Amino acid sequence: MAKIAEIFKSIQGEGLYQGQEQVFVRLFGCNLRCSYCDTTLEFYQEKSIAQVIAQIQSYDNYHSVSLTGGEPLLQIDFLAELAKGLKKLGKKVYLETNGILYDNLERIIDDIDIIAMDFKLPSAVGGVDFWDEHRRFLEIAMEKEVFVKAVIGIDTSKDEILQAINIIKNIVGASLVYARNKIQFILQPQNPYEDLLQGKLVDFQQVCNSRGIEAKILPQLHKILNIK
Ligand code: SF4
Repeated sequence: MAKIAEIFKSIQGEGLYQGQEQVFVRLFGCNLRCSYCDTTLEFYQEKSIAQVIAQIQSYDNYHSVSLTGGEPLLQIDFLAELAKGLKKLGKKVYLETNGILYDNLERIIDDIDIIAMDFKLPSAVGGVDFWDEHRRFLEIAMEKEVFVKAVIGIDTSKDEILQAINIIKNIVGASLVYARNKIQFILQPQNPYEDLLQGKLVDFQQVCNSRGIEAKILPQLHKILNIK
């Protein structure tokens, strides 16, 4: 059994698969308290694998199943079984994660197709840095399709972006699969400060591109469309 906040079908609002229809399985609970968090996780229901898969099966015509949260890797035993079950059904499995619990990622990487990994910048999480965790996580995630996303806020500094770039470059440079697995870096403006952040976003994008990291500026589509 797992604590499930909600299961629903909608359009992916963030990252490289923005605009694709997905079934979202939102697992309850998170190990962080990001300053910009917009996920309200107050309620959950205990559900079995069979119940979750039955609900996913009630939807059709979608690109992939997004395992999201909170932080889905916190409930790793359930997640591992669910991902395996989804692969057996021929589903594409998409993991949205804060990119910290690398040991848990290693347990399920074989059954994940796409990883949307956040870099949690110190300015957004009370000054704590997770660079080492992110580096280890990305090393494992490179086995599959992965992109990295960071939320850019008023307090985000260029040093934080440079640190993120270094991690991506070091891992990509050391990876044997680099030729087929180029990592894109998504700069996501913090809602609702998109207008105020325009100059900073363009500056950060140029910093990335000039160092060989392809960066895209993508606001949250679901906020613009006012959908879930
Ligand atoms: S990791 Fe995601 S769900 Fe958890 S606090 Fe940060 S933004 Fe919210």
